[in-house]
Amino acid sequence: MKYDTVIGLEVHCELKTQTKCFCGCKNNFGDQPNSNCCPVCLGFPGALPVLNQKAVEYAIMAGLAFNCSINNNTVFERKNYFYPDLSKAYQISQLEKPLCVNGYVEINVNGKTKKIRLNRIHLEEDAGKLIHDGIGGTVVDYNRGGVPLIEIVTEPDITSAEEAVAFLETLKNTIAYTGISDVKMEEGSLRCDVNLSVKPAGSEVLGTRTEMKNLNSFKAVYRAINYEQKRQIEEIEDGHKIIQETLRWDDSIGETKSMRSKEDSQDYRYFPDPDLLPVYISDEEINKIKSKLPKLPTELKAEYVGYGLSDYDASLLTESKEISDYFNEVLEKVNQPKLVANFIINETLRKLKEEENKIEANRMAELLILINNNEISTTAGKQVFEEMWKTGKDAKTLVEELGLKQLNNDDEIKKLVLDAISNFPQSVADYKSGKTSAIGFLVGQVMKNSKGKANPQKVNEMLKAELEK
Ligand SMILES: [Zn+2]
Repeated sequence: MKYDTVIGLEVHCELKTQTKCFCGCKNNFGDQPNSNCCPVCLGFPGALPVLNQKAVEYAIMAGLAFNCSINNNTVFERKNYFYPDLSKAYQISQLEKPLCVNGYVEINVNGKTKKIRLNRIHLEEDAGKLIHDGIGGTVVDYNRGGVPLIEIVTEPDITSAEEAVAFLETLKNTIAYTGISDVKMEEGSLRCDVNLSVKPAGSEVLGTRTEMKNLNSFKAVYRAINYEQKRQIEEIEDGHKIIQETLRWDDSIGETKSMRSKEDSQDYRYFPDPDLLPVYISDEEINKIKSKLPKLPTELKAEYVGYGLSDYDASLLTESKEISDYFNEVLEKVNQPKLVANFIINETLRKLKEEENKIEANRMAELLILINNNEISTTAGKQVFEEMWKTGKDAKTLVEELGLKQLNNDDEIKKLVLDAISNFPQSVADYKSGKTSAIGFLVGQVMKNSKGKANPQKVNEMLKAELEK
């Protein structure tokens, strides 16, 4: 039998605010454990939370970036559960009236675009971090407790591991552009839970789903989905029922393990937090936040295609904010989109796979201006680029040092052209008898004799003129 896989994702993303969501403690990854804590985020009796305005603003920015409607009235609820990473024994979250609802993310898989609908984006606080010492003990760091978090919940529109990864990549890149989070999966600022079920192909009835928690790399998401869909199909084929449960993905052995039977929302006894007033956000405020939103990758990509770049090149240049910012900055000084794009894609991106960018935008622009003004050839430009990267010297100095200045002097080029014509009469005869391709050989000779420095366009033109005489 054939099966369909149905996947919904819940993505948690920590917001890069200065302070925590409901108190003034620092929001800083990597500090001394339990140094950024106070009575509010630890939940001491009588301590009162105060909502961080910046966190609300950032959550709304995320909603706007993903095409959500923003609720003017929003409420914070307590989600109650008892676990050592949660010193208050409840988490301040949102259930009934989340900040953002009904958005979508457009993904591209194998050349096809697909809209993944979002159910909601809500604001909540993070829990502390449990650290298992590996010899049976566990310690807790509450620095993370109370850090603002958005939870992005999709509709079950995803049907494969490839789509899930494409969704996460698009999501991560777009969030990075907004600047609201540093979206570092390795530091836990972006985490993903996967809800997955299978059903007979074409069936309208959803199967029982399982939830895999806290996957912290794209690779883990990909592997976990492929493992879990296969496991569920095998269970069904063997005549077993799928149990609704929470699973832990063990990346080292490549298997899911049962953590606990899955709670429903009523198990959390949600109720409005009596210490926090409902929040009203006017349309005016929402528009103000909208105006702060920078250009997003989809928008930039369309802009680049409008400059005459291919869809593929435009995608490469918008894979990170760092690259598109760099491209824009160089382009501002050298208004030659194709030249700038080719150089950044073929040279800079290749180097960036190994190390950080060594050539600032203004220095890159200087190099490209030399090429654009025909002072050096593109080939020589690549050589200069390599040396700039290696030595930190500027383009002009290197062109002098390496003797790469393009030969543009008409008299000198003409002399080389005439030499080639008198040295290779056979090629000249071939050309005159109709084999026009023979000119290629003669161009090659001139280039060789000029040590690659002659302006190839001029060489071509002059040779043609001489041969047609
Ligand atoms: Zn605090």
